[in-house]
Amino acid sequence: MFAGGYMGKILRINLSAKTYQIEPLRETEVLKLLGGRGLAAKRYYDEIGPDVKPFDAENKIFFFTGPLTGLSLPSTTKFQLATKSPETGRYLCSNCGGNFGPQLKKAGFDGLILEGRASGWTYVIIKNDKVVFGDAHDWQGRTTTETLQLLREVMGEKKAGVLSIGPAAERRVRISYINVDSRAFGRGGPGAVLGSKKLKGIAVFGTQKIPVADKDSIDQIRKKAIENLRTTKANHTKYGTAQYIEVINELGALPTRNFQTTYFEDGDQIDAQMMRQKYYVKNYACYRCPVACGKVLEVKDGPYTGARARAEFETIGLLGPNCGVADFGAIIKANQLCDEMGLDTISAGNAVALVMELYERGIIDASETENVEALFGSGDALIEMIKLIGERRGIGNLLAEGMNHVVKKHPEWRQYILSVKGMPFAAYDPRAFHGNGLTYGTSSRGACHNVGGWTIRAELQSGDYDRYALEGKGKLVKTIQDNRAYVDSLGICTVVRSALGFSDNPQGGTLKAATGHGFTSHLMEIGSRIYTLERIILNREGIDRKDDLLPDRITNEPIPSGPAKGHILSQEMYDIMLDEYYCERGWDQNGVPKPEIIEGLSLKSFLNS
Ligand code: SF4
Repeated sequence: MFAGGYMGKILRINLSAKTYQIEPLRETEVLKLLGGRGLAAKRYYDEIGPDVKPFDAENKIFFFTGPLTGLSLPSTTKFQLATKSPETGRYLCSNCGGNFGPQLKKAGFDGLILEGRASGWTYVIIKNDKVVFGDAHDWQGRTTTETLQLLREVMGEKKAGVLSIGPAAERRVRISYINVDSRAFGRGGPGAVLGSKKLKGIAVFGTQKIPVADKDSIDQIRKKAIENLRTTKANHTKYGTAQYIEVINELGALPTRNFQTTYFEDGDQIDAQMMRQKYYVKNYACYRCPVACGKVLEVKDGPYTGARARAEFETIGLLGPNCGVADFGAIIKANQLCDEMGLDTISAGNAVALVMELYERGIIDASETENVEALFGSGDALIEMIKLIGERRGIGNLLAEGMNHVVKKHPEWRQYILSVKGMPFAAYDPRAFHGNGLTYGTSSRGACHNVGGWTIRAELQSGDYDRYALEGKGKLVKTIQDNRAYVDSLGICTVVRSALGFSDNPQGGTLKAATGHGFTSHLMEIGSRIYTLERIILNREGIDRKDDLLPDRITNEPIPSGPAKGHILSQEMYDIMLDEYYCERGWDQNGVPKPEIIEGLSLKSFLNS
């Protein structure tokens, strides 16, 4: 086995039987897939067939840490999950910070598999190799943060890692997130999978040392990386991801009023300067993170006084401009509500914006919104609509089923829905930078800017690429995706990856010092293997080229105003990028990996073993 980085064990918990067992980590899998996202995908491939539905007891959640999770390096906070998504009905991968991943490792485990379904509401406590099941019947209706506190109290360890769900997940709202120490497994509705399993939360605490191969080298790498991050990530420390609001708006890429346009005229009311001046309270950091990009914000006057949240770029963009809302206080309040009820802010912002457009067009009326006047720009309407979704009332009950269901029920609304594979768009409009369209189309989980490849730096910030060019974007997106796939398998935050040598040309001795193994020169190949494995899973679940396409608003409607006015990403334009992308990946024209690439990535024998 490895000299460090791994604990060598996986904990499997069966909620139906209230039993658990400890299994060995498989070295062959680690050599091919590294950890985190790669290992979670492999277990999903092995154990979740295409016919399993998200709320079946047969669905499972696979949590996996990476070899760097919990080590004394910057931001070794991350762990990963895979499950069948309630929102898309397909494979879901998701990434999260907080203390849970590091504590799981200190308890002695690289991974945690949850299976079955409890007969009544349950919580789980993991302390080193002991697992205790508790009765959470009285916790029904508790918010994510109340549940987190309850679990910390029951465990009696301040430093415990805790994951919890809120009332929306109890109601199986398909856009429910899992709260992890106030960070989130946000997208795809994994909270609703826990809800379906009647699991209100888990606390974990461990006292074991995570082994490393070369402690002196790790100490040196840590010092250098922290020094580097102080300068390279100073804007993250001061403004967090809210720094992108101004630049994305000024470039005409910020979704506004349900992506009807891409420039928000009141952008200066919701940007990072405004955040610092009026709402900033303090920074928030994940485990061992010197960057501390989280910003605790509080409304200090006006109708939403006292509201508190940690609003980030995507949340501000989708609850703000995309709903036409310029009142930062209302955005913070809406963010807080989503957090407490347990709703993904990106999907919630898209859902509310859809209702506002339907309402303004006279397609729906107040009888469907429980008398909420759902007009763009209304902070109160935004807040009330979020309650409707979380409580499954009125049209909120329809939206709680996710966009795939909404389109099925109302095919005539398709032109107003911005999603791919059932997952709504993040807060970037691909008509204003086309690589982002390919990101949304080919992401392993739907219209996601992270898993799909964050092209912002390459297309908008560095000036290395013409943002409206089509050629070269297939290669760009593949490279970013493969980089992200291996970083998601390491157990570190993507924000610190370069400081530790994990770019698309990986270098340095971090991984060797941690594990003793020479993974580094193979990392991009490992990323490509993980992405291809995820595609094999998606193909098995019925996904192919037809599902990689962009919605009508992007392909049919030019941007009507603002700095990117007149730009469109038509089907013909998109096809040029998609063909190049498939070619770069070694997939056929229908988006299916060719036998030779499966063989070339050593996946064939591995997947059949
Ligand atoms: S940079 Fe931000 S998201 Fe990343 S680990 Fe630090 S606080 Fe968490």
